[in-house]
Parts: sequence; C-alpha cells; structure tokens
Amino acid sequence: MTDEAVTAWIGLGSNLDDPRAHVQRALERLARHPQLESAGRSGLYLSPPMGPQDQPEYVNAVMGVRTTLSPDALLVLLQAEEAAHERRRGRRWGPRTLDLDLLLYGDRRIRQPSLVVPHPGMHERSFVLYPLAEVAPDARVPGRGEVRALLAACPADGLRRIQEDGTAVAVSNE
Ligand code: ATP
Ligand code: CA
Ligand code: CA
Repeated sequence: MTDEAVTAWIGLGSNLDDPRAHVQRALERLARHPQLESAGRSGLYLSPPMGPQDQPEYVNAVMGVRTTLSPDALLVLLQAEEAAHERRRGRRWGPRTLDLDLLLYGDRRIRQPSLVVPHPGMHERSFVLYPLAEVAPDARVPGRGEVRALLAACPADGLRRIQEDGTAVAVSNE
C-alpha cells in the first residue's frame, strides 16, 4: 500500500456476557491485526447505560490504531470484529457483547449514510472523552476542538475507572 498511514481512534463498549473479557479480547485482537498498528489504549472504565436503563452497566475503553485502511474498510473490519463477538442487533442503544465505534480518522470529516466521522456524540460522552483524554489529550475532534477542552466541559456522569487491583474509582475532570 502506498497511502499514508493515519491514526484512527476506536471506542469500545460491552455490557453482556463478561464485558471486561469482551473488551480485553477485542483490544488484543485489534492490536494483533495485520492491517492495524497499535497507537495506544486507555484503561477500562465502567459507565451507566445510555438510553434504556434496564440493562447492565458498560465496560468501555478507547484504542488508537495506525492504518492505511480507508475509513470504510476500517468500519467493515470493526463490524467483523463485532460479529466475531456474536453481537446481535436489537433495540437502539440496547445491550451488546461488543460495540466498536470509529471515533476519529485522522483529521477527516466524513458524512455518509453508513459512516459519520467524528462519531456523532463523542464530544459529549464521558465514556469516550475520559478514556481518550487518558491517551490522547492533544487529539483534535474536527469541528469540536481539543479533547482536553471537551473533557473540561463534560461531567463524569457516574463514570468509574477500573484500577490495577480490579476496584473501580470515580473519575472527575476537576
Ligand atoms: P451510537 O452510534 O449512538 O453510539 P450504537 O453504537 O448503538 O449508537 P450501532 O447500532 O452500533 O449504534 O450502529 C448503527 C450504525 O451506525 C452502523 O450500522 C454504522 O453504519 C453506523 N455508523 C455511522 N457512523 C459510525 C461510526 N463513526 N462508527 C461506527 N458506526 C457508525
Ligand atoms: Ca456506540
Ligand atoms: Ca456502534
């Protein structure tokens, strides 16, 4: 491939069937993927569900990858990984074994029916911004600004970070 590699950021989430294991396994498989080179990852976080409240809380993380794949090809790869985790599509924002969102693709803005980048909503979701700020506070969300500034304006909303010893600690942007 002759195209320049770009850094893309992926948001991971799971709230079914051992969510931590799903997120860990996806992080490892993406890091090993021949067309992706790992560019950093956050720790694991716990977040209250968005949308329907009658579902378990989520485990979240973000991961950076360097890749020469096009945005569309990267989305296809992410959807294949969701399928490998036997994700079933149900109601909007319902529970899932694995959700992989393409948050950022370099500084590109994309508006297609099947792919919107930056991911809509990422600039105001604590479970995206806090993990992203842990690894890429200087990253820019095109049209929205720097991650660190977005974080400063984003309440933690019950987000907790899972520590090395497995305990979960509330996070804050203060
Ligand atoms: P949200 O997108 O609000 O986080 P969700 O992750 O639950 O909600 P899904 O059901 O996983 O939504 O995805 C619905 C569709 O969103 C997918 O079929 C995909 O084509 C489209 N989509 C658009 N932009 C993106 C993106 N940046 N990353 C992943 N999927 C996207
Ligand atoms: Ca999502
Ligand atoms: Ca998704």
